[in-house]
Amino acid sequence: MSTIFKKIVDKEIPADIVYEDDEVMAFRDINPQAPTHVLVIPKKEIATADDVTDDDALILGKLFLAAAKIAREEGIAESGYRLMVNCREHGGQEVYHLHMHLLGGRSLGPMLADMD
Ligand code: AMP
Repeated sequence: MSTIFKKIVDKEIPADIVYEDDEVMAFRDINPQAPTHVLVIPKKEIATADDVTDDDALILGKLFLAAAKIAREEGIAESGYRLMVNCREHGGQEVYHLHMHLLGGRSLGPMLADMD
């Protein structure tokens, strides 16, 4: 089933797009958790990290290349950043169109929230 990200890919709803090529799109998260919070997505609809196939190997690499390019453009490459992919319920995935969060611009603290 298509998600809101498909509508962004199809330009049916607006987004603050920071990168786009034939296969990849990146736009600013609507609810940023850090000074830089960009979502890097394949234009192809892949629901979750668990749904990738061998055919997706190239596109997955392109997500990393786009993220690194955007991080350099955002000026956060040297200070560092976090790339994060949430998968399904326990991963906290809300939108079922594979996406990589690019977060940076401040120290991001421990990798996981303390749930105690
Ligand atoms: P996840 O929890 O990994 O599925 O992350 C989904 C992310 O999509 C959240 O950080 C939301 O703030 C973000 N988001 C949802 N709708 C939009 C939108 N229309 N434009 C930009 N970001 C969005």
